[in-house]
Amino acid sequence: MQKKILILGGTTEASTLIKSCVNQGSLTLILSLAGVTKNPVLPPNAFTRIGGFGGVIKMAEWIAENQINKVIDATHPFAQQITRNAYQATQIAKVPYLRLERPAWQREKEDLWQEVTTVQDAVAALGSKPLRAFVTIGRKELLVFKECSILHEYWIRSVDRPEEMYIPQNAKLIQAKGPFSEEDEIAFLKQNQIECIVSKNSGGQTVYAKISGARKLRIPVIMIQRPIIKSAPCVPKWEEAYQWILKG
Ligand code: NAP
Repeated sequence: MQKKILILGGTTEASTLIKSCVNQGSLTLILSLAGVTKNPVLPPNAFTRIGGFGGVIKMAEWIAENQINKVIDATHPFAQQITRNAYQATQIAKVPYLRLERPAWQREKEDLWQEVTTVQDAVAALGSKPLRAFVTIGRKELLVFKECSILHEYWIRSVDRPEEMYIPQNAKLIQAKGPFSEEDEIAFLKQNQIECIVSKNSGGQTVYAKISGARKLRIPVIMIQRPIIKSAPCVPKWEEAYQWILKG
């Protein structure tokens, strides 16, 4: 029997999971994206829907109307709202739910991390001494950096260019998408004399090289910890999500 799987994506894990299903003819995959990335790479073996559902109830209705059999929530570890919504919507629609979330990076002995809980705390942690900071938190939450832009100099890296209104005064913008090599990250950090990195604890390998590079160069990292989102059950690896899709 044909099974319809909704995969909430926007992550490398969602793409890898979909690619791994390429020879599973009994599966119909639907990738859902928020629509925030300008030119997303779309997998050829899945249908794609783009844009919000309109909240929990609308999402539950969408799941029922489209006769979805299972939902995999493979959204980013910092995407809080969609994860809460997806869990609730699947409970309403009575459809099995699985969260696929890559593990957080763990601090190593030589790391100079300062762990904070919000972007606001990260800005405060930069302190009052002018710094050359490499900021890699995406483009949506840059406004707080703008408020202290006179003090610090920023190198802001994001996949798409941030909205003009979010860009701090002393910012150099870098548009790039991982994976990044450690060699390139170290060269970048040295060349721009970066004194501090601001990062989310996103986990995964794709953008980890800045963290290992910082360790080698003894550059401090202000690490924004993950929000605690109550959603269950959860697996850390796409292989486990793949087995769950095939099961039952
Ligand atoms: P969010 O705050 O959790 O979600 C905001 C709203 O966007 C949701 O309520 C939902 O709208 C819609 N939405 C989010 N993801 C969706 C999806 N995969 N399919 C359909 N609608 C979705 O999300 P966010 O932090 O803005 O992240 C947006 C997307 O970017 C996510 O898919 C995430 O995986 C990806 N991403 C996020 C980050 C990050 O740091 N937050 C980093 C890399 C990638 P409705 O309520 O209307 O349904």
